[in-house]
Amino acid sequence: MISGHPIIVANWKMNTSLADAIIIASSVRKALEEMHHVEVVLCPEYIWLYPVKEELSKFPLSNLKIGAQNISQFDNGSYTGEVSAQMIKNLVQFVILGHSERVDNFGEDEETTNKKIKLALDHGIHPIVCVGERTKSETSVTFVINKLKRILKSISNEEYQNVLIAYEPVWAIGTDKEAESDYVDEVAKKIKEKLSDDLKILYGGSVSSDNASNYLTHRHVDGLLVGRASLKTREFIEICSLANGGV
Ligand code: PEP
Repeated sequence: MISGHPIIVANWKMNTSLADAIIIASSVRKALEEMHHVEVVLCPEYIWLYPVKEELSKFPLSNLKIGAQNISQFDNGSYTGEVSAQMIKNLVQFVILGHSERVDNFGEDEETTNKKIKLALDHGIHPIVCVGERTKSETSVTFVINKLKRILKSISNEEYQNVLIAYEPVWAIGTDKEAESDYVDEVAKKIKEKLSDDLKILYGGSVSSDNASNYLTHRHVDGLLVGRASLKTREFIEICSLANGGV
């Protein structure tokens, strides 16, 4: 079940050592003891999912969850190096899917992302579906809506309430050129209008503690997907705290 509180997702990508992962996770957990109006999802590298889960299980908090950064488009079988939804369903509640880095570096196409979304849902994992235009133009919103319609093909309206969309303009990821918050709110509003009000919409792209509040104050933005800033423990906790403050 996804809560009604702002959702802050940390995408650590392939950056942490085991020691880093444990330190960040335990520090965030400690800080969240005082925060009851925000839901946080930590997405470590596959190999650290289990140790991070073990660490967090020592003092479980209902608003601190774990997510994976990818799953296979297959459920099981001869797929060397792959990890399936079925294998991690007891470890994670969320999974990031369709990230532009998977598209750019591993050639993931829309059909594959669609298969992964369905497998995640079949196994009770909430997909965090990334979508965003490469360059901003007058047709960006239409591009985003049409792309979402394709990658969410055959997902039922009922299932939408288990799906999060991360609106991540590709030009804003890892660039320090964050999107304007009014524009993000407009895109989020259109996605809800055209697809479903049940979808939660996160914004991602160069989020920091300096700009997080700008997005969180907007009505149609339900949370944030944070890359680089999620690796800086103090900064990430500050972002969670801004979200918790009902800004
Ligand atoms: C991301 O990779 O999804 C992301 C939003 O990264 P950053 O916050 O570093 O721009």
